[in-house]
Amino acid sequence: MGGDKRTEYTFLRKTRISLRFGKLHHCTFDENNPAGARCLEQATAPPGHRGPLIDRCQPSRCHNSVITPDHLQLWRSEEHSLLKLLDTPKLPPCRREQLGRQLNDVQDVIRKADEL
Ligand code: SF4
Repeated sequence: MGGDKRTEYTFLRKTRISLRFGKLHHCTFDENNPAGARCLEQATAPPGHRGPLIDRCQPSRCHNSVITPDHLQLWRSEEHSLLKLLDTPKLPPCRREQLGRQLNDVQDVIRKADEL
């Protein structure tokens, strides 16, 4: 999901919405309705844990992820870095594949944010 400054402001004003602010995106995970949170899919949460599993976050695939224009600049910078790395001559195929997967995820985020 993309969001402009107005969206961000609206979120800030609504106390009913659980919101975690991040450098790369905001997370609107709702503990009372966790369905669809990609970080929880096929994961075992620690006992008593009710929030998202941040280290398993998938901003390009989760409907709880909100990308603002400020975030988008960082994603574009990440895309640029990955493209430069992929230009490195004689990369081992496994490294090239890994970077390619990272690039796909980053470009998915950018594409989805641009569509809104
Ligand atoms: S995958 Fe990321 S955006 Fe989605 S609920 Fe988990 S932490 Fe939040």
